[in-house]
Amino acid sequence: MAATQGRLQGKNAIITGAAGGIGLETSILFAREGANVLMADVSEAALAKALAKVKEVVPTAPRVESIKCDVSKESDVQAMVESQDSWGGTDVIFNNAGIMHANDADAIDTPEKIWDLTHNINVKGVWFGSKHAVLSLRRHKKARGSIINTASVVALVGAATPQLAYTASKGAVLAMTRELAIVHAREGFRFNALCPAPLNTPLLQNWLGEDKEKRFRREVHFPTGRFGEAIEQAHAVVFLASDESSFVNGTDFVVDGGMTKAYVTPE
Ligand code: NAD
Repeated sequence: MAATQGRLQGKNAIITGAAGGIGLETSILFAREGANVLMADVSEAALAKALAKVKEVVPTAPRVESIKCDVSKESDVQAMVESQDSWGGTDVIFNNAGIMHANDADAIDTPEKIWDLTHNINVKGVWFGSKHAVLSLRRHKKARGSIINTASVVALVGAATPQLAYTASKGAVLAMTRELAIVHAREGFRFNALCPAPLNTPLLQNWLGEDKEKRFRREVHFPTGRFGEAIEQAHAVVFLASDESSFVNGTDFVVDGGMTKAYVTPE
């Protein structure tokens, strides 16, 4: 394993959805770059495994802890952020937890309860995380802070495979992040949205399984001919969290192998 590079040295970071594909890879890179990391997830079992993994692969990590948090509950989010007060306050939050429900469908078939569930986690969760990060940054009189919110390429381009609640929720994340970036710019608090393309994570890959047709329908859109990897998102998040991106604010930070810029036809 590479030695600590220190690009996030001394920063206190929170990562939500830390037990999942992107969240775990980001936790590992953050720890390796010298950040103190608080890993948060709604699934306690998965979180315990993820924490153990980070400690195993980054034994030199300065401080890595975990906390159970359902991001759709404001009291949970508040407790999560305030738990970093004793660390010296939060510098970075990666509002990354999100769901795409199996029953999410088109305008006709999406059940209202699936719409509400998706928006409670994907949109309200990001709002609560952003709100309590701002309160913490102010409480600790920080001159700078970085908030990264996970949106998706479906906030930028329409998907022909319908998932209406999810798509609308990610559009909301993008618009909300942009406004927060402008409102808080003079306080030194940066907000950027990460827009990943479909990834090679268990979530999607288990669902695609051995169905070659389903897989091809998606792969064909990638100029590279492949899905992205979670770690390729994590590298972008390290940049957005670090002071290297000090003049990057309000962006739709697209990490998609060129997918949203492509007109690709089958060979
Ligand atoms: P994942 O399912 O592997 O991880 C998501 C994590 O969020 C899980 O550990 C889950 O337990 C947690 N979570 C779910 N509901 C929660 C809640 N209410 N409170 C706290 N944690 C909760 O998915 P991933 O691929 O790592 O996705 C992370 C983010 O990236 C999501 O916002 C997702 O929408 C987005 N995204 C993923 C892809 C992809 O292809 N994987 C593409 C674009 C965007």
